[in-house]
Amino acid sequence: MNEPRHHDAIVIGAGIFGCGISFELARRGWNVCAVDMNSGPGLGSTSSSGAIIRFQYSTVPGIRLAWEGNQYWVNFAEYLETAEHPNGVAHKVTTGMAFLRSDEQLHQMYVRKLTEAGVPFEEWSPEELAKRYPWLTLAEFGGPRSTDDPEFWSEPVGELPGALWTPDCGYVSDPQLAAQNLHHAAQAKGATFRFNTRVDDILLADDDKAVCGVQLRDGTQIHAPVVINVGGPWSSTLNELAGLAGSMAIETRPMRHEAHIAPAPEGLDYEANGTMIGDLDQGMYFRPSPGNNIFVGSTDPDCDGHEWVQDMDTLNREITEPIWNRQMMRIAKRIPEFGVPHQRRGLAEAYDVSTDWGPIYDRTDLDGFFVAIGTSGNQFKNACVASHLMAELVTAVSAGHDHDNDPLTLRGRFTDTPIDMAAFSRNRPINEESTGGVLG
Ligand SMILES: Cc1cc2nc3c(=O)[nH]c(=O)nc-3n(C[C@H](O)[C@H](O)[C@H](O)COP(=O)(O)OP(=O)(O)OC[C@H]3O[C@@H](n4cnc5c(N)ncnc54)[C@H](O)[C@@H]3O)c2cc1C
Repeated sequence: MNEPRHHDAIVIGAGIFGCGISFELARRGWNVCAVDMNSGPGLGSTSSSGAIIRFQYSTVPGIRLAWEGNQYWVNFAEYLETAEHPNGVAHKVTTGMAFLRSDEQLHQMYVRKLTEAGVPFEEWSPEELAKRYPWLTLAEFGGPRSTDDPEFWSEPVGELPGALWTPDCGYVSDPQLAAQNLHHAAQAKGATFRFNTRVDDILLADDDKAVCGVQLRDGTQIHAPVVINVGGPWSSTLNELAGLAGSMAIETRPMRHEAHIAPAPEGLDYEANGTMIGDLDQGMYFRPSPGNNIFVGSTDPDCDGHEWVQDMDTLNREITEPIWNRQMMRIAKRIPEFGVPHQRRGLAEAYDVSTDWGPIYDRTDLDGFFVAIGTSGNQFKNACVASHLMAELVTAVSAGHDHDNDPLTLRGRFTDTPIDMAAFSRNRPINEESTGGVLG
């Protein structure tokens, strides 16, 4: 039972991050073993992702990461370095994004920070928006409200003064396929994957100061001097197994989230001519989805409350009627021609939410134990660039680099953008400018 198996690194989780990090380490010559309790790659929260690519983040390093990350999707087929993909290769669909201008302070912050990060954008007047997307109303509703609130049905309080247009936004055609692609690419570089295999414990050495492997549910132990937690919404459970509960300034916990899919109004070819809309006035965002559908996400405004998950093993993955109705009524207020559908469709999963809704790409206080966690419903887009950062970090720290006192700054492979990894530290100051909700 306890046959020791030796690898250079064990990756816990084979979602988009686990597959990406396995690929990046394997292509650097590491002997990697990835372990996942699901039956294949990308079947955790990755399979429910909206896979939206956008650049509105509240920190310049966050924007730079997304801008560099976008290039991986633009060049995804070449990036994989292998042509063997039996189900095809996922691709980026560029739609642009009109982020409605409902909060002037936020609008000015994005203008400032997108400029600093060098991301192209335009400020659109209401006339420009109406010319391009006449099916959209610019009515201002005074912020998101619960459907139980009688004010929900009140008349608009005014008109929104336009939008911030970012032409390079879009989405990845199929997030689960993207994970499969990275899985194939990692295997082609020699990484091994063990599916239907649950990690039940983290093994410690050196008076519990360092990690030395993992124990599986059947009692088997696998050994490696490096273990990486990419458990998605299960990340806090894995950190607890490693004895790291309470050791980080930024913590993670799972939060249930629903996203919905509804048909576009009759006569509107939204799939071909639509764009992505960010709408904080209604606490939602939406984008085109195959089959002339609308993918509708929520920014989880305070009025809706947050569904924190105690036990991921009992997560309700059904679309619920109240949340479906609420989101459909909200989109009907933004697209007057929208006919509320009767059949509920969508995805219910969990975000791995961090204290300030930003990711943690870092080492930990346990030598050899690394984390790429806290992706907070907004880091699918960054999975490839973050995998590159993680592989560089693991390599540098394993060679003795003191990342805590001398954080790495890495340059983007595609854009040459400097990416300051201190911004993704487990012990960073909490980002007070975070909006506390996401637009995908
Ligand atoms: C509804 C929804 C919409 C989203 N929309 C967007 C979006 O539009 N844009 C965007 O950028 N991001 C979005 N995200 C976020 C993005 O999808 C996630 O950040 C990303 O998919 C996380 O990938 P991961 O590999 O870290 O986690 P996962 O895909 O969840 O993978 C973690 C894996 O770890 C495995 N695991 C956990 N514990 C163990 C264990 N003990 N033993 C073995 N295996 C284990 C699980 O089985 C799982 O497969 C969204 C997320 C959700 C849920």
